[in-house]
Amino acid sequence: MSELKRITHFINGEYWNQPAQSTGDVYNPALGQVIGKVDFATVELVNHAVEVATNAQLEWRNSSLAKRTQVLFAFREILNSRKEEIAKLITAEHGKVLSDALGEVTRGQEVVEFACGIPHLLKGSYSEGASTSIDVYSIRQPLGVCAIISPFNFPAMVPMWFFPIAIAAGNSVIIKPSEKDPSAINLIAEFWKAAGLPDGVFNVVHGDKVAVDRLLEHPGVSSISFVGSTPIARYIYENGTKNGKRVQALGGAKNHMLVLPDADLDLAADAAVNAGFGSAGERCMAISALVAVEPIADALIAKIAERMSGLKTGDGTAESDMGPLVTAVHRDKVASFVDAGVREGAKLVVDGRNPKVNGAAEGFWLGPTLFDQVTPAMSIYQEEIFGPVLSVLRVKSYEEGLALINRHQYGNGTAIFTNDGGAARKFQNEVLVGMVGINVPIPVPTAYYSFGGWKNSLFGDTHAHGTEGVHFFTRGKVVTSRWLDPSHGGINLGFPQNR
Ligand code: NAD
Repeated sequence: MSELKRITHFINGEYWNQPAQSTGDVYNPALGQVIGKVDFATVELVNHAVEVATNAQLEWRNSSLAKRTQVLFAFREILNSRKEEIAKLITAEHGKVLSDALGEVTRGQEVVEFACGIPHLLKGSYSEGASTSIDVYSIRQPLGVCAIISPFNFPAMVPMWFFPIAIAAGNSVIIKPSEKDPSAINLIAEFWKAAGLPDGVFNVVHGDKVAVDRLLEHPGVSSISFVGSTPIARYIYENGTKNGKRVQALGGAKNHMLVLPDADLDLAADAAVNAGFGSAGERCMAISALVAVEPIADALIAKIAERMSGLKTGDGTAESDMGPLVTAVHRDKVASFVDAGVREGAKLVVDGRNPKVNGAAEGFWLGPTLFDQVTPAMSIYQEEIFGPVLSVLRVKSYEEGLALINRHQYGNGTAIFTNDGGAARKFQNEVLVGMVGINVPIPVPTAYYSFGGWKNSLFGDTHAHGTEGVHFFTRGKVVTSRWLDPSHGGINLGFPQNR
């Protein structure tokens, strides 16, 4: 027990040095072993973090844009040169393969680079002479203390969707990362300190529901950016807004890939395998429902199954395509969906239960799994599985496929595979989903656009990063200004009119 790594809070520029009242186990999922203990925050500790963040923000918000940009650039350089260290921590606690972990840090870094342009992004507008001798201009100001509550599946990238912009805009942040893989964010906190960010502007509070609930209630917290499962996202949105906070809560997904008969089936099969099984299907943009417009289903499934036979499941530090699932509980839940699919009558084409793996026997393994003949009523179609399980649904027409996608409770990402530009354009216009790929299976928007789904995939009206992110982390003010000149004066109680 004494050899276990302790992962603790990072508040006011330093690690918390007092013992925790409660802790959680952190596993290496490829080994199936506990490798660390993460401290769980109490209500008092969250109160302390909010106080620290509040004080730090008062000064940070008044630092010049030039100063803030310098810190952002310095952070970007440190992150870029040390991203392998973060990737290794992610692989050790999440299980995804190293190249994938590195990819997530790189995608997060793009938001840091976007936030380096904050002086331009914060520019307001100015109307000289809106009325006689009166000028009107708009400015955007920071909110105060911004809380970020993140999921296990992207321990670096998802927090980076938010904090670079929040900090660049002059806020302070408190991050409550997933308790399953908490180490990456601590190293990021160290990078901020090394970059010259004043203590208390970036704080990490580890924990569970106790910490989250306190952040939702605390009057000193201005906004909540949440990413996780839909039931918790709904809870966060309802309680955060009830307490007067600005909330963006991104939830679960069931991403459909619609393949039209004219598509290149080899490219579509490659895409389905990459997007279905990358990161063991633990991506909010993973493809989990493939909708094949007949008569291509048999040919497409044969190509997908053939590619799946070459996938290596194993330890992310070794030569593997796909790592383990994050915990034993989650692996068992995903495996129980495979059981349910068989029970409900879907055809199991590739069975990932009891896979051959390149790793420890105790790891939380589940191999790539493929179902055919899935129908809309089945639980494997209705629910988010969040594992390496791809379901094929057969439809007779584009219209039938579109209607299926539009009826689903989730609307995070979707993709169409076709060589028909007109059909693709019709799809982008008609589909009720927030992020659309045309011959692109995982259409995660680049940092200067915004990331977010529709329907039960997002609560709140603001998506992450891009200009919507800047809007979320600032609030607008409009100033109407007149500098005294002798032509003014006199009494007039009428409503002011532009003259
Ligand atoms: P989760 O909802 O279990 O946890 C997310 C966060 O909420 C964690 O920090 C966790 O500690 C906290 N939490 C958990 N239970 C809570 C409770 N009862 N009260 C208050 N806080 C609680 O999600 P997860 O399993 O970590 O992540 C996977 C989920 O996240 C999937 O559903 C996936 O689709 C979703 N996700 C969505 C997006 C997106 O962009 N829409 C991105 C990544 C992940």
